[in-house]
Amino acid sequence: MSYLNKVLSKDCVDFIDDNHIENIIKNTKEDPAKVRKIIAKSMRKEPLEVEETAVLLAAESPELVEEIFEAARKLKRDVYGNRIVLFAPLYIGNFCVNDCKYCAFRRSMRSTVRKTLNKSETVEQVEALEDKGHKRLILVFGEHPDYSADFIAETTKLVYSVKSGNGEIRRVNINAAPLDAEGFKKVKEAGIGTYQIFQETYHHETYAKMHPKNTHKSDYLWRLDGLSRAFEAGCDDMGIGALFGLYDWRFEVLSLVTHSRHLQNKYGVGPHTISFPRIRPAHGMEINEDYLVNDDQFKRLVAILRLSVPYAGLILTARETPEIRREVLEFGVSQIDAGTRIELAGYKKGEEEQKQELKKEQFQLGDLRSLDDVMYELMENDYIPSFCTSCYRLGRTGEHFMEYAIPGFIERFCTPNALMTLAEYLEDYSSDKTKKAGQELIKRELDKIKDDEKRKKLEERLDLIYHGKRDLYY
Ligand code: SAM
Ligand code: SF4
Repeated sequence: MSYLNKVLSKDCVDFIDDNHIENIIKNTKEDPAKVRKIIAKSMRKEPLEVEETAVLLAAESPELVEEIFEAARKLKRDVYGNRIVLFAPLYIGNFCVNDCKYCAFRRSMRSTVRKTLNKSETVEQVEALEDKGHKRLILVFGEHPDYSADFIAETTKLVYSVKSGNGEIRRVNINAAPLDAEGFKKVKEAGIGTYQIFQETYHHETYAKMHPKNTHKSDYLWRLDGLSRAFEAGCDDMGIGALFGLYDWRFEVLSLVTHSRHLQNKYGVGPHTISFPRIRPAHGMEINEDYLVNDDQFKRLVAILRLSVPYAGLILTARETPEIRREVLEFGVSQIDAGTRIELAGYKKGEEEQKQELKKEQFQLGDLRSLDDVMYELMENDYIPSFCTSCYRLGRTGEHFMEYAIPGFIERFCTPNALMTLAEYLEDYSSDKTKKAGQELIKRELDKIKDDEKRKKLEERLDLIYHGKRDLYY
């Protein structure tokens, strides 16, 4: 049987019941009293049922929507803290056997410029990223026999081996096609962090329309089951996501919550992260406008995911504009990419082009600012930019660690680690303006630590960093 027409999914479980989800949406009406009760449950950081999430989605009146926004902001402020983890995507190869209607890498797009980075190009890209201050990458691949589990594992190891100056990549996450159990074992052994697989749309009929029959990706269940296989093969760090704009956004939100509950119930570990990319213009793509998600709906969906799935990290990417990123950040986003380039071999040492060439890229970005500019803005808005990778490296993963941990944990580990990685960045990479903003922020954060002993210990460690020591963490 060829690579393309194997039926792989016969043992996979379909936990998405379209009719059930559609009925919940149809039968749930706006109900302020229920919304408030459910918000109170979220504030206790209890996961919401799908039906409860639907109540939040049914809230349309501006006052009620504002109550949901305010609850998400409060949850972020009071419970999750003000750290934002920074990463960058690194596209390794854009050959693809699939034909996803929304993507410029689809095989029928003959005019897309194709490329797979060779080893020295990969090294060069990683050096360029390290020289800007990045410590966390997500490697992105099309789906192609060349991008086997062995290739992904080898590339991961290569990325970890690159050291430029004080730079190093301390966490490599992966966004690639779902693997089989053996493949997941291989990439786990190579030391990957999160394995991300977006279902794109959870709606079966739309999924079939977007992913033509004679393609590998047309196998809905193989993809849906991907992260379950990953878990069973030993990867306990899973990223789920939906591509918003293919079908009703409320359906996708309820499906993400269903997926999250499925993983939690079956394995005792929910998704480490949830992604909610909105579809962007892409080379050769005709956008079907029926399900495009507008900014107001986008804000609602992020706030509602925050309230529904406690502990999962929320990832907001540079597909969005700086303005939207700024607004949505306060609803409980935990990770963003910055200084992002998605053209193959697009990272350059020194100044970067602020333009995209869509023939060479998967889609159009909304935010092309440099890492340093994003860092500066975050700190001006009182967020702590963090490159922390401590939990992953100390084996605190899976059920022992979720992106958003309990408050005591944040105080003891996350905030000090964030400040130490920020201090490294300020010493090694930042502009003068960002350095000044960073030093002021570190001072403000130190002043907040009431326990003298703890503050002193952290000051000592920061001092070591100022004297050249690197990679300290709790
Ligand atoms: N080829 C792998 C796969 O399909 O799983 C890796 C995925 S792709 C390189 C990363 C993600 O980008 C996709 O899962 C999809 O959600 C998203 N994407 C594709 N086309 C897009 C577009 N036009 N706008 C925004 N996001 C898009
Ligand atoms: Fe290929 Fe992934 Fe693009 Fe689909 S989304 S065409 S699988 S790169």
